[in-house]
Amino acid sequence: MTDYKDIATPNRTREILKKHGFSFKKSLGQNFLTNPGILGEIAETAELTKDDNVIEIGPGIGALTEHLARDAGKVLAFEIDQRLIPVLEDTLSPYENVTVINEDILEADIVSESEKVFGEAKDIKVVANLPYYITTPIMIHLLMSPLDIKTMVVMMQKEVADRMSAKPSTKAYGSLSIAVQYYMEASLAFIVPRTAFVPQPNVDSAIIKLEKRDTPLVDVIDEEFFFDLTRSAFQQRRKTLWNNLLNRFGKSDEVKEWLEVSLQEANIDPKRRGESLSIEEFGALANALIKNK
Ligand code: SAM
Repeated sequence: MTDYKDIATPNRTREILKKHGFSFKKSLGQNFLTNPGILGEIAETAELTKDDNVIEIGPGIGALTEHLARDAGKVLAFEIDQRLIPVLEDTLSPYENVTVINEDILEADIVSESEKVFGEAKDIKVVANLPYYITTPIMIHLLMSPLDIKTMVVMMQKEVADRMSAKPSTKAYGSLSIAVQYYMEASLAFIVPRTAFVPQPNVDSAIIKLEKRDTPLVDVIDEEFFFDLTRSAFQQRRKTLWNNLLNRFGKSDEVKEWLEVSLQEANIDPKRRGESLSIEEFGALANALIKNK
């Protein structure tokens, strides 16, 4: 049942924006959700319990934050826009388990802020309606962070969600799919139409659910080299893996021999395109290349 006091009803949102004289900044990706049903579904997808510690990126006026505050233990939210801080103090005043930090998520020390708010506690979940202009940098930042993030339930542009959850041999599959799925199991939860936001964005959105694997999907010798290799394989999607590898590593006889031996060892036909390789195959190739160097 929708609580009539929900921040995200169109009327209440309008009222809050008017009361605080707030105007949207397009450059900060400010598209606020005004549909309590969808917000409830996001929180449900995260399967929150009072034992969960939640990090939110970009609380806006608190529409999603209040659902998190109701369902989770503690909530730590990072909001870059200083103008929203007094708004959040107002709208989230009924909730004592929320801490809002006025910082850019890419600059903030999320590890020490989490320790301050959550203590030693693990089992961190990230739940957020991400600003679209920096969705990928934020996701990579969180994936690479030493923070123990078990689950992420995040809303983003549908096209980016498709890429993050794509399987091999599909148009959307690429180095981003591999970077995400190396660490996390990814699934598309549901689609959100553009009409659910104010102002309305030009694209539809999707909620993606990511769950951390106990160990990365493949056992690679050198992660940095593995990711470098996957990016190189998709540099020119229409070219063969062989051509993309020559572009990356050079065209000398020595390099060609190194590539040939390693591809053979990994059981990969050089005429295939990068998009046809599974993450496991990329791992095998990266390891063979390192061993034969
Ligand atoms: N959570 C709200 C909702 O669902 O209605 C707002 C989501 S809106 C798509 C994105 C929010 O992220 C905005 O409040 C924006 O100011 C904030 N934001 C943009 N860039 C940010 C950054 N680098 N760090 C933290 N917050 C950011």
